[in-house]
Amino acid sequence: MRRFVTNQPPETIRVSASRVVCDGASDIPSGAALGHPRVFLEIDETGFVECGYCDRRFVLIGGPADHTDHSEAA
Ligand SMILES: [Zn+2]
Repeated sequence: MRRFVTNQPPETIRVSASRVVCDGASDIPSGAALGHPRVFLEIDETGFVECGYCDRRFVLIGGPADHTDHSEAA
C-alpha cells in the first residue's frame, strides 16, 4: 500500500456550500484506504470548518476565512 507524505501542511479546500462531507479520501482516486469514516461538517459564521479526522480545512468561498494567500506562518 502506498502512503502519501504525512508531514505536509493540512489541506485547505474552498467550497461554495456551508455543508460539506469529508471522508479523507474524496480527492484521492485510489486512496479510499487512507480515508476515515464519512463525516458531515457545517461551516459556521467563522467561514470555515476543520475536519477532526484529517485536519483538512474547508473554507467557504467569499466567507470571512476565504484568504487566497497561503502565508499562515504568522
Ligand atoms: Zn476529513
